[in-house]
Amino acid sequence: MNETLSRDIIAAVDAGFDEQVKLTADVTALPSTRGQEATAQDFMAEQYHRRGLAVDRWKIKVEDIQGLPGFSPVAVSYENAFNVVGVHRPTEKKGRSLILNGHIDVVPTGPLDLWTKPPFVPHVENGWLYGRGSGDMKGGLVAALAAFDAVDRLGYRPAAEVYLQSVIEEECTGNGALACLQRGYRADAAIIPEPAQDGYDMAQLGVMWFQVKVRGRPTHVGHAGRGVNAIESCFPIVAALHKLEDKWNADRHEMWKDHPHPINFVVSRIEGGDWTSSVPAWCTFDMRISFYPGQSLESVRKAVEGAVREAARNDAFLANNPPEVVYHGFQAEPYIVQNADEVHAVLAKSHQASFGAPLIGRPITATTDARFFGLYAGIPALVYGPVAEDYHGFDERVNLESLRKVTRTIALFIADWCGLERRAA
Ligand code: ZN
Repeated sequence: MNETLSRDIIAAVDAGFDEQVKLTADVTALPSTRGQEATAQDFMAEQYHRRGLAVDRWKIKVEDIQGLPGFSPVAVSYENAFNVVGVHRPTEKKGRSLILNGHIDVVPTGPLDLWTKPPFVPHVENGWLYGRGSGDMKGGLVAALAAFDAVDRLGYRPAAEVYLQSVIEEECTGNGALACLQRGYRADAAIIPEPAQDGYDMAQLGVMWFQVKVRGRPTHVGHAGRGVNAIESCFPIVAALHKLEDKWNADRHEMWKDHPHPINFVVSRIEGGDWTSSVPAWCTFDMRISFYPGQSLESVRKAVEGAVREAARNDAFLANNPPEVVYHGFQAEPYIVQNADEVHAVLAKSHQASFGAPLIGRPITATTDARFFGLYAGIPALVYGPVAEDYHGFDERVNLESLRKVTRTIALFIADWCGLERRAA
């Protein structure tokens, strides 16, 4: 790409940035927590439609995807589960095709009184846009669209197919991205503008969700000794699982050798008991764990079940009433970026032109939808995106200067990777 075009593209992103921030705030205002994404998806479909893209909006059906590699089992209804893809097709294909994928789903807000301002009333303060989902990842989702707009503003369109994907289910299964593969979407590269802190993700851990269901023996609390307290029985089981976490942190994969604590096992939900004056007869806790490339889902499940069984064996009641381990939600394999040299080269060049600094890669301690493209479709996929803070926490925010520069990178990437053609007037 010549210098003039590169400069023009950067200027075009900057010129549209106020509008981009407004659009990001508008999307962030739509509370697209799990099961509630459809309104935000309608909004995205309308945005794609306005830009002359072919809009594909469909309801995800579990039976269409459950046999595919990468599927994660679900315990909730998909009655309202819609994906949206905006498709640009060139007049004459000259360049390489591109998927720009982002997720519209956001995690729950938690107690509202812990937020300085309401999570779904986005506001800008000191160069940051605040709101649930602003960083993870509506900032990036809209950045992809704004990058497309910047090219358009100069009178161009990409000279290859560009698929703008707005998917659901990233925060719990990845089944939204999987449904895009099932629908047939393929491209020569995929970019996912998750909050990657002005860099790209070199590798991601595997992530698994499971539930442990523990039984007890209910009695009146007046003679509690005759009963078995299902809630308190969970404590040694949790401790045994944390021992496994310690072992995997000690025994770490070389890619995470400099990370202080890559593996995290978190008891994230717990429920149990029926009455304050009854020894609880049941308790169920949810755990999210992570693991390294090289560990299979099967071996991880074996290790988890082994730890649970071992802890139960030390308890007379549990030894005869073993806890049950149930899997739903993430069964996500680890992914190390591979076969992405060409994509990386173009992204690095684009990033350098936008930031005036080299592109840096990091291994992350979570998962992203990149694994679907990379592992199951042979599409080189890079997660690259802005600086964000406190996502999944309180006062989530995305840095606007970072978002602007990331958008420039994506626009430059589109021009370089796909090539450009003159837009019909
Ligand atoms: Zn995300």
